[in-house]
Amino acid sequence: MKVLVINSGSSSIKYQLFDMGDESVLCSGLVERIGEEVGSLTHKIAPDTDAADKLALEQPIPDHEVGMTLAIDLICGERGVVKDKSEIAAIGHRIVHGGEKLHQPTLVDDSVVEELEKIIPLAPLHNPGHLAGISVARSLFPDVPQVVVMDTAYHQTLPPEAYMYALPYELYDELRIRRYGFHGTSHCYVAKEAARVVGKSFEEFNVITVHLGNGCSMTATKNGKAVDTSMGITPLEGLVMGTRSGDVDPALHALLARTKNMTSEDVDRMLNKESGLKGLCGMNDMRDIHAAIAKGDEKAKLALDVQTYRNRKYIGSFMAVLGTVDAIVFTAGIGENDNIVRRESVKGLECFGVKIDEEINAQRASEPLKISTDDSSVAVWVIPTNEELAIARETKDVLNG
Ligand code: ADP
Repeated sequence: MKVLVINSGSSSIKYQLFDMGDESVLCSGLVERIGEEVGSLTHKIAPDTDAADKLALEQPIPDHEVGMTLAIDLICGERGVVKDKSEIAAIGHRIVHGGEKLHQPTLVDDSVVEELEKIIPLAPLHNPGHLAGISVARSLFPDVPQVVVMDTAYHQTLPPEAYMYALPYELYDELRIRRYGFHGTSHCYVAKEAARVVGKSFEEFNVITVHLGNGCSMTATKNGKAVDTSMGITPLEGLVMGTRSGDVDPALHALLARTKNMTSEDVDRMLNKESGLKGLCGMNDMRDIHAAIAKGDEKAKLALDVQTYRNRKYIGSFMAVLGTVDAIVFTAGIGENDNIVRRESVKGLECFGVKIDEEINAQRASEPLKISTDDSSVAVWVIPTNEELAIARETKDVLNG
């Protein structure tokens, strides 16, 4: 069975075609800068093999329909990995926000589209792009089942004390204002992988998963169910991210309105696009930050310290939430590659039984790697995430009932 996974954003479409027989990636690609003067498409055949073949093109890509049509021509055309569109059995769509109603992977029909439209106010940066992707995919593949897999799904098991904000209750009743949590597909995938490598049943596994990429979030899973997470009603709350602030005092909006005449849109943009690592030191890629620290850049060092301190604070609080912790797992771009961030994020937690082996921590691995010492009572692991494969598996499961 071949499953196409689509992650359609406001100006980009990321895709991967899986052969679910052996879960290999047949091809993958990225359409970028949709709607700009010049767009681009990068397409890779058999990207996870040594014989990977890459195609790139640049041309105006005015909308999602043109972008998707270009991609489909490469997937199914003359040089395509499948001969005909009909070989694609299902399409899985990544959806950032499913609100309170959409939490199971679900077959797309008009009512699902309507529900996603309804919750646009909860995810104005993401859901419109997803809807554009779904609409084009439905018109290009009218007979192929399409499934939506929500980033918010894994966190639907949070108890009310973790998901409610201490706000007037009417806001929850009227607008469903509550903690939703994001990166759920990634947290779920690495939490299950961790249970597997540690050798415990997921239903009896307590784990803190630390997803550190451009976006950063942390989730506490108790007995196989998410019980708390750092992101909130939007993916802004919690950890320090590439350009997002994470936690700030909610009085900031009013203060900046009074003192700098900023509108709520101005503050929102600043917190999402101009804050985080970038706000503190002007750089949002951790590799650039390390290079700058090596040259003595003090703001870069501050950015690293602020991010890793926040990570440590959240790990400590989630240890308190869980009581017994079997494992802490680092994942995503920074979590998988950056031994300094990992080391600093668990520094000082030795008294809670968290000890990492510096030498192993410095190793690079594309497979799960245990970086804690043998006498650490909490196992610390680096586990590569694979959200696309997780979406392809969910899509296949929906099809198989
Ligand atoms: P996204 O959240 O967009 O999926 P990724 O998980 O791919 O992002 O993470 C991207 C980030 O990972 C980059 O911005 C960079 O900060 C960081 N990163 C990638 N490779 C490395 C590396 N080798 N060392 C340190 N940081 C890295």
